[in-house]
Amino acid sequence: MATTTPFAYTSLEEIEQIHAELKAGFKTGQTKSIAFRKYQLLQLAYLLQDNAKALEEALTKDLGRPPLESVMMEIGASISELMEAYKNVDKWAAPEKPSRTLNFMFMNPVTYKEPKGVVLIISPFNYPLWLIMSPLAGAIAAGNTVVIKPAEGCPAIAALLTEQLPKYIDPSFIRIVNGSVAETTKLLDLPWGHILYTGSGRVGKIVAAAAVKHLTPVTLELGGKCPVFIDPASDLKLAAKRIVWGKFTNAGQTCVAPDYILVPKEAQEKFVKELKTVYAEFYPETAESPPRPAQNTSKMINQAAWKRVNGLLQASKGTIVCGGEGADEDKKFIPPTILQDVTFEDSLMSEEIFGPVLPIIPVENLDTGIAYVNANDHPLALYVFTQNDALKKKIFSSTLSGSAVANETIIIPGVSGLPFGGVGGSGYGGYHTGKYGFEIFTHLRASIDTPSWIDKLLGVRYPPYTDKNLDF
Ligand code: NAD
Repeated sequence: MATTTPFAYTSLEEIEQIHAELKAGFKTGQTKSIAFRKYQLLQLAYLLQDNAKALEEALTKDLGRPPLESVMMEIGASISELMEAYKNVDKWAAPEKPSRTLNFMFMNPVTYKEPKGVVLIISPFNYPLWLIMSPLAGAIAAGNTVVIKPAEGCPAIAALLTEQLPKYIDPSFIRIVNGSVAETTKLLDLPWGHILYTGSGRVGKIVAAAAVKHLTPVTLELGGKCPVFIDPASDLKLAAKRIVWGKFTNAGQTCVAPDYILVPKEAQEKFVKELKTVYAEFYPETAESPPRPAQNTSKMINQAAWKRVNGLLQASKGTIVCGGEGADEDKKFIPPTILQDVTFEDSLMSEEIFGPVLPIIPVENLDTGIAYVNANDHPLALYVFTQNDALKKKIFSSTLSGSAVANETIIIPGVSGLPFGGVGGSGYGGYHTGKYGFEIFTHLRASIDTPSWIDKLLGVRYPPYTDKNLDF
């Protein structure tokens, strides 16, 4: 099993040096070879496989997370994304010919897929491995050299990756820069082929503003409040199960976690009953009063996050129906908690919760919910639980969100072949998984090669234009 070295931030001088070395690495042309890209993808998959146990332990150390969540949501998900890229990169990277048009077909039109150069990936703390590996799979498949800036909030995982990466990958091609605001600011001063940032909207704006200096293209994977619409005629038991799981995984620190529930007021009690049943099944320890130590839940990332979420909870005027007891600042623990009779004006509706607290808002009807969603930032994901196709269509077509999900919760970013990403306040540019991740880091280079004989047909374009008559 691998051991971790102490976590040290990269010096500002070294950051410039790393950038220069990766630029030189790109210039060697080695990453243009598809075979080389495949080798790197495979090496990264081996890194994860060989270090699976150490990664699992590091994730538990950083996030206080039950190991199974890390295996499912990060280690396994990362290996499958790397392998998907490995299996498909030949196809993705192949030049594409457009469908034939009479006007241009003899000019041999073709789109080449060019790497953008040295690219930067800035990751957040909540899935500190997957949110590195998922964009990295696309960046490597596309033939770039890459700087990764892991989340400083997860020192164990950052230190482990920093130690292991050079054993698997030539440092001329992929490097890690560790640090916080000063180091990221230094990175953002440099020119990049592309920047992919995952994190809060506040920092997203800083990243986008810094990128403008060099006209660097940016992908912003941000957050927001993801609503859940409940049709009272749907399978409420199943809805409760999927929502409780999706919300409380990783202590609610998931960008697509259900943030609040909208349920017609006459159905609130019935739905709460189902939620209570599921809650007692999933979290028997915290369902008891007084609660026993929690076993199946992660912790808040740090004391500041604990204080913020606990503050929102304490200020709420909703009624707690599940959990609520046993929050512990020293252990950064907040029990999974559900509240009913919450209003749109409540503290819990003032910002993205990003913690294990789930408010239920009883509404006159689902139209009230649609109006609320439309009056706020477009959510990253919007959920509806219904077996009624007309209702699903109505909710989807009268709102806009990064993704639109029926009868499921947080797995949408991991569904192969879909372009996951935000819109408006939740960000821009879809990646995860597969080809979309490749495309983010690829320049589509349009090309033609016109034979000389074409002038027999198109000689009319040359001046002088006098006495020429173009009839359409
Ligand atoms: P974070 O605090 O880990 O920050 C993210 C990154 O930004 C870190 O690498 C950090 O070093 C850097 N950073 C912080 N302040 C900076 C500054 N002033 N200048 C430059 N860089 C800076 O994570 P976070 O921002 O708290 O992440 C949580 C947010 O991310 C939530 O809103 C969540 O919804 C969102 N998120 C979105 C996705 C997605 O795919 N759309 C995925 C995960 C998380």
